Parts: sequence; structure tokens; C-alpha cells
Amino acid sequence: MNYPYKTREGGATITIFVPYDCRNHCPFCINKGEYANPTGFSVEKICESIERMNAVTPYCDYVFTGGEPLANLDSLQKMLDKIPSTHKVYINTTLPVSEYQSEEDVVTFTRRNRDKITCINVSRHMQQYVVESNDQLLTRLAVPFRINCVLYQDYPAWALIPYLDRFGSIPGSSVQFRFDYTATTPDNLYEETGDQILQDLKKIAVYTGLEGCRMRCGFHFDYRGLEVTYHKTLPYSTIVEQDAHSGVTYAILYDILIKQNGDIHSDWDGTPLNLEAYRSAVFEAHDLKWLTQIA
Ligand code: SF4
Repeated sequence: MNYPYKTREGGATITIFVPYDCRNHCPFCINKGEYANPTGFSVEKICESIERMNAVTPYCDYVFTGGEPLANLDSLQKMLDKIPSTHKVYINTTLPVSEYQSEEDVVTFTRRNRDKITCINVSRHMQQYVVESNDQLLTRLAVPFRINCVLYQDYPAWALIPYLDRFGSIPGSSVQFRFDYTATTPDNLYEETGDQILQDLKKIAVYTGLEGCRMRCGFHFDYRGLEVTYHKTLPYSTIVEQDAHSGVTYAILYDILIKQNGDIHSDWDGTPLNLEAYRSAVFEAHDLKWLTQIA
């Protein structure tokens, strides 16, 4: 069933899958399979799709993900250069350094793009699945950064405090713990008493409030001055809902994806975006708001 699109003011976030792989094998990764066959992957096609989307929503947010966006800085630069400064840009990365790419290369890249990049989200998991660059590199980045950590299955709760102490000692840090989103449902999105992660965090940090919307939520904490969030999100990006006033049923878009071959999708399951229909999308105020705030 095709419903007219609705999205938030400014447009849905556009997530770009870079057309090259990371070298890691995190057990919770659902993107890795897409990189097994790179036939058709194209920086040029992605750039064309970025231009197409810029014309429709010139103020939306962009997220680069993968794969590993920082594995090929030249290609990432080409894609970044297609995004005007009217957009916020976030990059999900493990912050890789190797014999082919030094810390200095990464730092120089962030300096060159300090006006383009809103925040770098650096994956640092409590169980180490990837080769990590030195924490000191974080202090040298020329753009804001946040530490992302998926708390997967039987994560070691005893390691939460050492983990928070590790990043709490790095100036400019904040930490976002993430629930395994493949396990998130509308029923457990806002669940509190049965949520082990939330209960573990409440034992060690000061709970400061909850913000959320139809699609995702964040429980906020203060750990000795370190900003900590526990984030949950549903495993899809479209919610079908009837408007209470008009009676019209809309497909409400939260994320749009540009795939490695430049195809534009409206959901994570391969649904193509109807670009013509999206040009006529209805906009609503962003529904993310504070639901509880503890002074
Ligand atoms: S580094 Fe990222 S893309 Fe690579 S396997 Fe891990 S989660 Fe997946």
C-alpha cells in the first residue's frame, strides 16, 4: 500500500552507506552482508543521489556509515564536498589508523572539514571487536566527537564503570550506549523496569531525564560530569499512521538511505524511495521532545 509521505521539518535524516568496506566483523553488525559483493558500488552514483536529495530537502541531516567512512578519506571527501553547509553531517566510524593511514591523516582530515562535520560518532565497544586507535587521537580531532557503544546480549555490566572512567577522563567526551536495535519493538522501546541496561546504568550514574519520539528514545545520565545517554531505536524507518485531524494515512519517514550503488531507499528493508512523492511530503514539527526532565 502506498501512502503519502510525512516527515519532520527539514526532512528525514539521510544515511549514506559508503561504497567500501571496513575490515571488522562485529557480531551485531547487520550491514556487513551488503559489502560481500561490491558490484555496482559507486562514489559517483552516491554523489548524484546526494545532489538529488539536496534539491528536495536542503536542510536535512546526513549520516555517513558503512562499512567504514574513514577507510577511504579521498572518497569521503568527494561525497562531503557535495553536501552544502546548510546540513548537519555526522560520521559513524571506528576511527581507523593503519600502515596506510596515520593519525596525522585523520587529524588533518578533521581540520580540513571542521566546518562541514557536526560530530564524529566513534564506536568503542566494551567487548573489543575492532582494532582500536589510541584514545589520545580523540583529543586531537578538530571536530566534536561522541563515543558509541552497543551493549550486546550478555555485556559485562561490571565493565561499565571502568569504561565510563576511561572516556570521562578525555576532554570533550560524551558516551552513548545503544540497545541492540534488531531487538527493539514498539512494546519494549520505552520499557523501564524490564530493561537490564537501564537498570544497570541507574545503579552507577545519576538519571537526568528521558527524551523520545515515535521512533527512538534516549535515557540521559550524568556520570561524574560525563554526559551519558542510553539510546533505543526501532529497526525500521517508516511508521504508518493516520492523521487524527485529516483522517489521511501517512508513511512517516525518519530516515532515508543512499545505498552503496547510489539507490535511494525509504527504509532499511530495501524499499525504494518514491522521489516524486517525497517532493510533495507533508512536514510536521519534529516529535522528539523531553518526556521527563529531572532538575
Ligand atoms: S566496524 Fe561497523 S560496519 Fe564494520 S563490522 Fe563492525 S559494526 Fe559492522
